[in-house]
Amino acid sequence: MLSREETYADISPVRLNGNGITAFISIMRGCDNMCSFCVVPFTRGRERSRDPYSIVAEAQDLFDRGYKEVTLLGQNVDSYKWKGAEGTESAEVQVNFAQLLEKVALISPDLRIRFSTSHPKDITDEVLYTIAKYDNICNYIHLPVQSGSSRVLELMNRTYTREWYMNRVDAIRRIIPDCAISSDIIAGFCTETEEEHQETLSMMDYVGYDFAFTFSYSERPGTLAARKLADDIPEEVKKRRLAEILKKAQETSLYRLQQNVGKTLRILVEGTSKKSKTDYCGRNDQNAMVVFPATEEIKPGQYVNVIIERCTSATLLGRIAK
Ligand code: SF4
Repeated sequence: MLSREETYADISPVRLNGNGITAFISIMRGCDNMCSFCVVPFTRGRERSRDPYSIVAEAQDLFDRGYKEVTLLGQNVDSYKWKGAEGTESAEVQVNFAQLLEKVALISPDLRIRFSTSHPKDITDEVLYTIAKYDNICNYIHLPVQSGSSRVLELMNRTYTREWYMNRVDAIRRIIPDCAISSDIIAGFCTETEEEHQETLSMMDYVGYDFAFTFSYSERPGTLAARKLADDIPEEVKKRRLAEILKKAQETSLYRLQQNVGKTLRILVEGTSKKSKTDYCGRNDQNAMVVFPATEEIKPGQYVNVIIERCTSATLLGRIAK
């Protein structure tokens, strides 16, 4: 159990990726939600947002050192909220997540901004409009649905319904038409019926996720679900439901990737491909991995336009546009 008052200011909030190009900055700690399957509220304590000025200074420092992409991290970034301390110069200042995103985006158009994780109950249109306004804020949102059934969502204590989630997806499609959306999905949560499982599958069809992290429910000691709900779905049923979810996730990912074939995408080169030293790899705005033949002139850390020629179920393949 972590302290409610402690800020853990001495724990380094910046994590560097070994490639010298992408890095992560924690903008907050803990979580005030109480999803019934999750241990985070018990292990990381209450939500605490970090000072936006130190976050911007860290991102600026990374950019000055050659980093080209920062990912702002929090259990629920949409509830980021910082207020200046009483009795200081900034006592009247309040910063929400949309405003923080904007401050980081203004560092340089060459610094890409990503963030994770968004919570469907908290993501605002203001955040979506900020993403749409700045080219360097990536058009990619990880928006975990967990289940497509309102009754199961209530048992999970997710505090939104199927309809609410769909409304948020509609807002994303309206404000950022080419935005990629990914999700976390749990198969076989306590008391989930076959119809409710089907609702999860139909939600996947509705959204057309670019990517989904899929799990079958397994009880975590100390969680609300472990204390109050029976883990009553037989293992073989969970397995079968998970397989159906995974199959649909792979189909929709492939479909979404195929939509890029023939297009020219702007890629941040991250380094050589794991599979071939003569190829580079990097991601596009929507977080899809792209592999293409390396050339002498292009170095990791540069942006390059790549014509997409084909795709596998997880990767786009192409060549540098002349
Ligand atoms: S699942 Fe996410 S939002 Fe829910 S309690 Fe855990 S960390 Fe918080």
